[in-house]
Parts: sequence; structure tokens; C-alpha cells
Amino acid sequence: MTVHRDIELDELYREIILDHYRNPRNRGSLDQPSATSEGDNPLCGDEVRVDLDIRDGRVFDVRFLAKGCSISQASASMMTEAIKGRSLAEVESLFETFKGMMYGADEVDMEALGDLEALQGVRKFPVRVKCATLAWNTLQGALEEFRKGQG
Ligand code: ZN
Repeated sequence: MTVHRDIELDELYREIILDHYRNPRNRGSLDQPSATSEGDNPLCGDEVRVDLDIRDGRVFDVRFLAKGCSISQASASMMTEAIKGRSLAEVESLFETFKGMMYGADEVDMEALGDLEALQGVRKFPVRVKCATLAWNTLQGALEEFRKGQG
């Protein structure tokens, strides 16, 4: 019974990831981003760029461009969907929760993660964890750039 359920769950997760890979959300770039950052994962050849439009302490808009494997591209799409409209504090907290899941923290608030939970299967392939976290680390770079600009 449990085995069957796990297989179904894996299937569902795979569907979510493939859907983001095939139909990426928020792909492209912004004309006048508040902050931009680029990141790469040389181990796999993945490259990601993230553009943020930050207004009143919230992610008003976000776009990404990505080259590389399906996990890195799907993860970037999922990341943009997860952070759009959120306050910067919420984005930070989500990033911490996501990292916790990917690196096997003891307590992870899965409910906060929503569809991002689908990426937890990547943990079985440690070398791919960097693919899944690339967009988030790049996002972090953009947020740092934004804060420097503010200060
Ligand atoms: Zn990759």
C-alpha cells in the first residue's frame, strides 16, 4: 500500500516538474529590473538569470532566463511562481525552508512550500541538488544587489 502511494507521489512530482519545464512561468527578462543576477552551475552546465521588480518591499514582478538541464529550468520557473507577490521577508523565509528541504533539515514546513515540495525527490541525486538550488542562489544574489542599491 505504502509502496504504491510512493510511486503515485513520485509520478505526481515528476508531472509538476515536467510541466514547469515544458511550460515555464515568467520566462523572459524585465525592461527595468530593480535588480538582476546571474548564476551558473559548472558541474552540470546550467545558467540562470533572474530579474526582479521590487516595489514597496514586495516582489512585484520576476522573470528568469535559463539554459541547462530540466531540473534547473523547472526549478527556476517554480521559484518565480512561488515568490511573485511576496514580501522580501517572506521570500527569505521561503528560501530558508526550501534549502532546508533540499539539504535534509530535521523540520521542514512542507505546507509553506506548496508545489516546491515536488523537488524534494532531487535529494536522491546529490549532484542534482545544485541544479535545483541554482535559481534560488541566483535570486539571493539579486536581493543582495537590491539591498546594496538601497543602502
Ligand atoms: Zn543541472
